[in-house]
Formats: sequence, C-alpha cells, structure tokens
Amino acid sequence: MAKLLLDSMCGRIARWLRFLGFDVVYAQDMEDDDIIKVARSTARVIVTRDRGLHLKALKLGLPSILLTSTNHVKNMAVILRSLDVLPSLPPVKTRCPLCNSPLIEVKAEDVKELLPSSNIATRYDKFWICPSCDKVYWIGSHWKNIKKVLDEILKEMREECDENCSR
Ligand SMILES: [Zn+2]
Repeated sequence: MAKLLLDSMCGRIARWLRFLGFDVVYAQDMEDDDIIKVARSTARVIVTRDRGLHLKALKLGLPSILLTSTNHVKNMAVILRSLDVLPSLPPVKTRCPLCNSPLIEVKAEDVKELLPSSNIATRYDKFWICPSCDKVYWIGSHWKNIKKVLDEILKEMREECDENCSR
C-alpha cells in the first residue's frame, strides 16, 4: 500500500486513511520544501490542498494528489481512485488514526481492563490495540457510521469513474 504524506489541511482525511491501513505522515507546520524533502526521502505520495505545492512536487517528478473539494467524501474518493485502492470493511490491515502505528488484533479478554465498560468485551468480538499509545479499538455501535461514510465514498468513486472513464 502506498505511503502518504498529508499536509496540515487534511487532518480528518489522515485519520481515515490510517484507519484504512495507509501509512500516513501528517505534516503539521511543515514548510513546502521540507514536505518535498520528506516525501522524496521516504518515498511518499504527497496529498495536499495547496496547488502551489502540488505543482512544485510534480515538476520535481514526485507523485502528488491535489484535493480540490471541501467535502471529505469526495476527497477520499479522489485519493483512493488515484491510488487504485478499493477499501473494504473491516480493513485487512489498519493503523491507529491518532499515531499511525499498525494496530494488533487482540481478543476481548486481553484488553478487558482497558475498555470503558465491561459489557463491551462481551457484546463485541473484534478488537485491536495500538502498541504505541495503548488505545483500544473495536467494532462497536460507531461502526455503522463508519460503514455509512465508506459506502458514500464507494458511491462517489463509482460516479467519478462514470464521468471520467472511457472504459
Ligand atoms: Zn496509537
């Protein structure tokens, strides 16, 4: 899976892409030249809302994706289509949305003490833990919302394809 470098205007998208398993560096407070340096040295695709940075990257032969929408569903569709990735739920691999570490799948009994309430361990059956920040994630009631947004993204990807693909 492609490694990405998102500029500081794309925080929500950074969390989504990590959840879908992408290795995402979120470049907060970084100058354009530093973003380009890091993207080149770590072989990352730049994702930005900044047309100037996007053009600079392309001129240097670096892969870059320009986001032009203010809607994160549209932007996610553009990114996933550019990378030729069809997302699925639950993701095959997933990363901590907060710190980018690959999550480790665990059993409920292994993380029981870390859960906010004991009935979560009995009610749900898929859990992950972040080895860096110890945060526990599980497929719970919020999953419905994640699925809804992902369905919107997939729909947007299909529509974009109808408009732009001759295939
Ligand atoms: Zn983490």
